Amino acid sequence: MAKKTMKFKTELEQLLHLITHSLYSHREVFLREIISNACDAIDKVRFEGLTNAELLDGDSDWKITIRADKENKTLTISDNGIGMSQDAVIENLGTIAHSGTKAFLARAKEMGAENNPELIGQFGVGFYASFMVADDVTVITKAHGEAAVKWESKGTGSFTLSEADKTTRGTDIILHLKDDATEYLDSWTIRSTVKKFSDFVEHPILFLSTEKDEEKGTEEAKEEKLNTQTAIWLRPKSEIKDEEYAEFYKHISHDMKGPAETIHYKAEGAIEFRALLFIPEAKPFDMLMNNDPKAHLNLYVQRVFISNEFDNLLPGYLRFVKGVVDSSDLPLNVSREILQDNPMLDKIRSNLVGRILKTLAQMKEKNYDKFLKFHAEFSTILKEGLQTDWANKEKIADLLLFETTAKPAGEKTCFADYVENMAEGQEEILYLAGENRRSIQNSPYLESFKDKGQEVLLMIDPIDDFVIPQLMEYKGKKLKAVNKGDRDDKDALKEEEKQFEGFLGFAKDLLDGVKEVKLTTRLKDSAACIVGDEYSMSPHIEEMMRRMGQDVPKRESVLELNPEHPIVKKVQAMYDADKADPKIETYTRLLHDQAVIASGAKLDDPAAFAARINALLAD
Ligand code: ADP
Repeated sequence: MAKKTMKFKTELEQLLHLITHSLYSHREVFLREIISNACDAIDKVRFEGLTNAELLDGDSDWKITIRADKENKTLTISDNGIGMSQDAVIENLGTIAHSGTKAFLARAKEMGAENNPELIGQFGVGFYASFMVADDVTVITKAHGEAAVKWESKGTGSFTLSEADKTTRGTDIILHLKDDATEYLDSWTIRSTVKKFSDFVEHPILFLSTEKDEEKGTEEAKEEKLNTQTAIWLRPKSEIKDEEYAEFYKHISHDMKGPAETIHYKAEGAIEFRALLFIPEAKPFDMLMNNDPKAHLNLYVQRVFISNEFDNLLPGYLRFVKGVVDSSDLPLNVSREILQDNPMLDKIRSNLVGRILKTLAQMKEKNYDKFLKFHAEFSTILKEGLQTDWANKEKIADLLLFETTAKPAGEKTCFADYVENMAEGQEEILYLAGENRRSIQNSPYLESFKDKGQEVLLMIDPIDDFVIPQLMEYKGKKLKAVNKGDRDDKDALKEEEKQFEGFLGFAKDLLDGVKEVKLTTRLKDSAACIVGDEYSMSPHIEEMMRRMGQDVPKRESVLELNPEHPIVKKVQAMYDADKADPKIETYTRLLHDQAVIASGAKLDDPAAFAARINALLAD
């Protein structure tokens, strides 16, 4: 192969610039990232080798080695993992796998990312962290049955590819250290950095150095194992420091920050396994940008890494949880596909779900401030469980917080407290979904409840309108959207209905898209409102979906009028006095217009609305 030069994808260059500038003070993480990759590469080939020993080429003495060459100022990290073919090198080291990178960069710019390492950390810098310490990086790699490849780059715009003469499977990462990063050639620095970040890595990390014997004038090669290789999840909880948990979390998640919560336990009984799970502080990059609805944990069987691709170890609504499950009950020597269908996984899953929900419930109980942060980051995802995990619906519901008419904006309540505070004789849990608090807190739908002193939950997360109706009830109390379905006592308005009959019929015929016009007791101060069917979407959601380009058909709605309101009374009187008065039409249309606006929907013809208002003002 002749040497060829290829350009990085544009985003990659921008990203490299950001990484090297913003993470400068954290630059030692490069070693963690490279060791993590080496460890993944070994795990991959080891697993493949379980079912196809040929792939191993007789080399299964797993290890990661580090060599420092002070003369040439190079640090080399080698593994005998799966290696990469030429195509894989181009794919993995010349582009960015993350599909949301462009959007991320735009956001990073907006937020002044150069001074915001946490933001970049969220991205998961990986291999590219090398360029913080090296001005030239060479990767020599060989996969089973493929020719060896040499990749080289200065991290500015392009990389070159050429042949290499490596004969064994695996990857060498050679860092030509920058002048201000030569400290990473010191054995002390290497030792302590590996210890700090990667002590628990299950494959040996060996440091190879040569020592000069000044007297004899000879050189002696020394090999030193830097990590203790104790799988952290197998160690007793009482002996593990928070920092150790945090480093392990960073190792598996590529998060720069430690976890918000750690769950470590051993399940015994029907199935035995160990789990070490983490709830992150904030959404990691992948979750922020790619909406992968599946959860990924690292599954180990008898300490052998199997996969992080099983999506049945945790339900999608807990996909923010990261961690490891290690089971000794699962068979080791089978393919991923067969393992994926093992019924034991279902048992493990329900156990994990129970534990996670319990941990969150305890957090809510004992550490409400921390829980609020969790809720702000992840409740939208958690709510999906109302739809998908019927067995745990109520437990999930218990973890949800909502704004409420009973508290000032920004303060929240939960279903349990709502039920506790229900007014005497109140049977239902009342809620109103809308775009934001301000747009619904003075909504006409709330008037009669305010009047009766009944609390209404204000649901302003767009997903609420989809998932909350699925909950149906909480602790035997039915959930009821105050802007949907019938609310009136059938007999309460008998008298008025007779009196308004003619006008109501006129309004129904006049207004397009209105299937019924009727009187209501649900309003106090407002004149009119639009009411949807019990199971219809809220108008603000329909509006949002239209904005996203979805074809949401306009539904026929019900217009309800408040017979106590002076305007409604006035129009009705005008109608009785002279049906032909042209003002009746204007007034009726305006009653409808204002009800549409208050519902959170958009007017079909805002210009006509303005013209009607102007006609009234000029009158
Ligand atoms: P990430 O590890 O988050 O996927 P990186 O940028 O660190 O991102 O690495 C990109 C990809 O390059 C990896 O997913 C892997 O496929 C490949 N890779 C990196 N290092 C190695 C290695 N030592 N051996 C084999 N493949 C590697």
